[in-house]
Parts: sequence; structure tokens; C-alpha cells
Amino acid sequence: MSEFIVPAKPIIGDDERMAVDRVMRSGMVAQGPEVAAFENEFSAHFVPGRPSVAVNSGTAGLHLGLLAAGVGPGDEVIVPSFTFAATGNSVALTGATPVFVDIEPDTFTMDPVAVAAAITPRTRGVMPVHLYGHPARMRELEPIAKKHDIAIYEDAAQAHGAMLDGRPVGSFGEFAMFSLYPTKNMTSGEGGMVTAASDEVARKLRLLRNQGMERQYENEIIGFNARMTDIHAAIGRVQLTKVDAWTKTRQANAAYLDASLDGVTVPPVIDGAEHVYHQYTIRVPEDRDGFVAALKNEYNVGAGVYYPIPNHRLPSLTSYANNLHLPETEKAAREVLSLPVHPSLTQEDLDRIVCAVNTLAKAGA
Ligand SMILES: *Cc1c(COP(=O)(O)O)cnc(C)c1O
Repeated sequence: MSEFIVPAKPIIGDDERMAVDRVMRSGMVAQGPEVAAFENEFSAHFVPGRPSVAVNSGTAGLHLGLLAAGVGPGDEVIVPSFTFAATGNSVALTGATPVFVDIEPDTFTMDPVAVAAAITPRTRGVMPVHLYGHPARMRELEPIAKKHDIAIYEDAAQAHGAMLDGRPVGSFGEFAMFSLYPTKNMTSGEGGMVTAASDEVARKLRLLRNQGMERQYENEIIGFNARMTDIHAAIGRVQLTKVDAWTKTRQANAAYLDASLDGVTVPPVIDGAEHVYHQYTIRVPEDRDGFVAALKNEYNVGAGVYYPIPNHRLPSLTSYANNLHLPETEKAAREVLSLPVHPSLTQEDLDRIVCAVNTLAKAGA
């Protein structure tokens, strides 16, 4: 049988290895000049005009971002349930309450009508997730947040470079987090980058990641050690020079799949949106798990399910959900399947994916 097509894979080349070697030879490996340079380059590349603060994971970025924005016990933050658990976890870790709302079925991102309905006097903010690399419904969410005087915090973990109406994701919120985990659109090994709307939030983020210190041993507040190392920053800086080309390849792969798949619903892109295809997600209404198994066992095509259990049903988070029923979220969790779309795919890989999906879809119809 032909080689297994992996669902995702980081691209790590000689440039990244040489960058690591350069930092290792310098003898200075903890947070230093590479991190500072990475932060400036990241801002200039993705969210011009906003300061970036590097941390050691995307999850730490969400957690520290919420703390920097003043979120804490007694507050509520509205989050989608159809996302990675880190979204709701980060809210719970501050002592605030994650309030789960449903998604709208096209883009799989949070439903603005549901957000408006979930607002209470305790609502401090709303955290849209630009899921799969498609921007959330910011056009509708911004006026709702403004009207009710609540903040927007963006989970842009999967959406480096995504745009809506000419504006980059990461420019809508009080802060926005981009993950640099290996399967994301670019990586630093592990890591996260937080863009901030104000110098004040950026300064609080810098304090929180480094024991509350701006000057050594003059700790101003209680903080964490969430620093990124210069080794990781050096990898990230190289990846930053390549990510636009990778995104173009992801988009070309997605366009080929859109045009070639037959009998399945391909991922829609709303007017004015630029999708960066972290995932290429289709729906398989009947026996999705059987479809995934057949792709793997009969065609050697790796597909992913993001996410099989909605966050409001997870043992860790269900205490916040109070028997909540979120029909679109639960339907999506049963139906979604993500096909490989990453930039390492060859034309032959794409044709194998198309042939496998179309054959299985026909057989199931
Ligand atoms: C990956 C991811 C995170 C967490 O990022 P890490 O870098 O893995 O901590 C948070 N939210 C979403 C939607 C993600 O995909």
C-alpha cells in the first residue's frame, strides 16, 4: 500500500537547525535578544502596530492574557464549547466562569446571537476562537461587545495570518493568542505569542510571565515563569520567514480539494474572510467514525477529528455547563472530520485523498 498521509506535520529545515545551533553556541539560551527580536518581527508580520509578548505555550498566553486584562473570580467570560479545551480552561484557571455558547454551523465559530443572549451583569468578556483558521464572526461580535461594554479576547491559536474585511485576526481583541505548537501553522517547538491592544496590557503580560519583574529582583506583582527560551524564539523567527508561503500552499491545497471533492460539504468561507486552513474540515453526517477508520485502514489517509467531545461535556469542564444543550456544537462534534491540507502534501497525496473521500462518500450515499 502507498505511504501513510499524515494529518499534520511541522516543516523543520536546516535553517531552523542552524538557528538553534547559533543560540546554543552563544551560551545564552534563556529569554533574551532572540525573544525580543521574535516579538518585534511577529508584530510587524501579523498585527502591525500592536506589541507582542512571547510565552512558553499558547495556553499560558490565554491564561496570562486574561489575568492581564483583569479577569478573575466573579467574572464570566463567554466561550465556544466547540474548541480545544485550553479555551475554557484558561478562563477557569483565573477563577472566572467560562460560559459556553453554541456555534453557527457554517464556519464552526461562535454564534453571535447566542453570545448576545448569554450576556449577564457579570460578563467581563467574550473569547471567540478563529477555529480551523477561519476568522470568527467579528463583524457581528464587535458591535455586541461595544453595546454591552464587554471586552473581546481572541483565541487565534489556529489562525496566523487570517483576515476579515482586510483586518488581521489578532487586531480585534484586548489581547489575542497565537499558538506555536508543532502542528499549528508555524511553530517554535512549543510556545505562544500574545498581541496586546495597549502598552498597559503588554506590560502586565511581561510582568506575569517573569515573576512580576521588569527589573531584576524588584518583583512588582505575583507572577509565573512562562518565559520563552531564546532557542525556541530562534526557531520561530525562521518559521516566520516561511509561514506566508506555507499558508499559500495550504490555500491552494484547499482550493484543489474544494474543486475535486464530490458528495461531501466542503468548508465554506464567508464573504470578506481569508481562511488560512489550519484544518480543512468537512462534515460526514452518517457514521463519521467509520469514515475516518476507512480512510486510514483502506486508503492510508490520516484524518483528524477536532473535536469529538464538546467542552461542555468534558469531565473537566462540565461542572460549568449545568446540563447545557448546544445542538450545533453537539452535531458538529458527531459529524466533523479534518482532511490533510498541510503544505508537505504532494499532488499525488491530494489525488489519493480526493479518490478516497469520493469513493467512500459514494459508497455511503
Ligand atoms: C492549540 C490550541 C490552544 C493551546 O495552545 P498550546 O500552544 O498548545 O498551549 C488553544 N486554543 C486552541 C483553539 C488551540 O488550537
